[in-house]
Amino acid sequence: MRRISILGATGSVGSSGYDLIRRAGGAAAYDVVALTGGRNIARLARMARELRAEIAVTAHEDLLPDLRDALKGCDVEAAAGRDALVEAAARPADWVLSAIVGSAGLAPGLQALEQGATLALANKESLVCAGPLITGAAARAKTKILPVDSEHSAIFQALGSENLDSVKDITITASGGAFRDWPIERLAAATVAEASTHPNWAMGQRITIDSASMFNKAMEVIETKEFFGVPAQKIKVVVHPESIIHAIVNHIDGGSIAHMGAPDMRHAIGYALNWPTRAALPVAPLDLALTGSLTFRAPDENRWPALRLAREVMAAGGMAGAVFNAAKEQALDDFIAGRIRFTEMAPRVALVLDKLSARDGFSVDPDSLDTVLYWDRLARREGAA
Ligand code: NAD
Ligand code: MG
Repeated sequence: MRRISILGATGSVGSSGYDLIRRAGGAAAYDVVALTGGRNIARLARMARELRAEIAVTAHEDLLPDLRDALKGCDVEAAAGRDALVEAAARPADWVLSAIVGSAGLAPGLQALEQGATLALANKESLVCAGPLITGAAARAKTKILPVDSEHSAIFQALGSENLDSVKDITITASGGAFRDWPIERLAAATVAEASTHPNWAMGQRITIDSASMFNKAMEVIETKEFFGVPAQKIKVVVHPESIIHAIVNHIDGGSIAHMGAPDMRHAIGYALNWPTRAALPVAPLDLALTGSLTFRAPDENRWPALRLAREVMAAGGMAGAVFNAAKEQALDDFIAGRIRFTEMAPRVALVLDKLSARDGFSVDPDSLDTVLYWDRLARREGAA
């Protein structure tokens, strides 16, 4: 039986992964090793019992007694804290879903690769912060990273076995998020609740707000560069409000291969779970006659300055990705806590990039976890409101 783990099982992507595994037979079909979560102890314990996991881990040490309590009477081990997360990711598994949000997902994901697991990667922050570190670890362990972000799963599928040499460029689509059609002048007054809604996708709160600010797409552009090894200038973004086409690979001979599907993460997660084969998934089939029309427009960088920042980050290289991500996470924390306005996030991130780029060592490559986490802390401190 295939041994699998889910890091961030209680979140939006993690729960979808859990749902697919349960539908595919659960404990009778998979040997479930580790499930991890945060404060939602009841959900974590329910999942671990249902899938008969070897171990359940909460990120919060103070919640260990609660987790132990919730797991009473079954033989699932309980653990808590950051080290326990990494230890759980180090337990031998064949397939690990990396679905923790933020750079907190970097260390456990890296550990999963190092022990030889195939890493189904939803945690785009890992690639933004530490692309070479992650892809290098996969190469050393002779294992594979499979994209779970919908756009990257789309590129992966559209590319198939095609050679990258024939790729002219790659376009990823963006729905435009909550404020796509708002007058720009209104954005400064946007509330957290307004930013936490999405026209097409049901996702965790942080990525939903990142969709409204386009920081999510900015991160995905960098993710594309790191994952597929394509140069920055070959990565384009188009706004596509219907979210039916997820990415388009444009070839040098004028042929373009697009990947389409309903906006449902269970496709990308299920694709990575079943790869290299395909299995039936509970995803609504496309009905283009019902959809009617697919529309596209160029992204406006005045509305979404994050896209420009992504290009600056890719041009800078080195630790710029780690700084960009951490400054963005800090700005998002500050927006959610009501300390800054929606429109203050991008200027803050730009300021942190600017300040830290003047420091010695900004140009070092992300070659170790410690270096990346050092710059991550520095950027958060510099950016805090
Ligand atoms: P979420 O907030 O719904 O869930 C996050 C999970 O990580 C939860 O299990 C939570 O307990 C855990 N977690 C949070 N902070 C943690 C910490 N400091 N240490 C350890 N665990 C922690 O997030 P999500 O929307 O499921 O997104 C997860 C990842 O997948 C993100 O990197 C996101 O960008 C990416 N992603 C999500 C979607 C989506 O549809 N939600 C789509 C594409 C990519
Ligand atoms: Mg995406």
